[in-house]
Amino acid sequence: MEAAKNSVVLFHYTVTEQGSSEAIDTSRERGEPLAVLLGHGGLIPGVERALEGRKAGDRFEVTIAPGDAYGERRDDATQRVPKKFFRDADRLRPGMQTVLQTTDGQQRVVTVSKVGMSVIDVDMNHPLAGKSLNFDLEVVEVREASEEERAHGHVHGPGGHHH
Ligand code: ZN
Repeated sequence: MEAAKNSVVLFHYTVTEQGSSEAIDTSRERGEPLAVLLGHGGLIPGVERALEGRKAGDRFEVTIAPGDAYGERRDDATQRVPKKFFRDADRLRPGMQTVLQTTDGQQRVVTVSKVGMSVIDVDMNHPLAGKSLNFDLEVVEVREASEEERAHGHVHGPGGHHH
């Protein structure tokens, strides 16, 4: 079957920055493909669109502009955050990435720009913001989502949630 909104797609991916051959992230090292319920915001928009209409066995590459990936870089995105909001404040150094819990309960990857006595300055831009990304994608399986998966908005079982 062809991948569409509300189908479950299991796929392997390797991401590189456009013009580079070094993998930023790949599912192939982990061995297990990523499982995603299409149409529920689990993927960046460019990858979601690239998977639509594909079938098991399809392997292809797409280049995705920042607007369909992690967004454009903003120059005014530095914020000063009290150390208590970091789980790992003591080990953070400039240039390191960490995860910050935002007030609406979301997790956000940020980059440390300066470490003070009681506060840390972080760059709120996603590390991949402003970058065009190349995805090497290989569809392993496409299947219908169960009613429960559609209700939860995510995949259950291998590569997905276990609960
Ligand atoms: Zn669930």
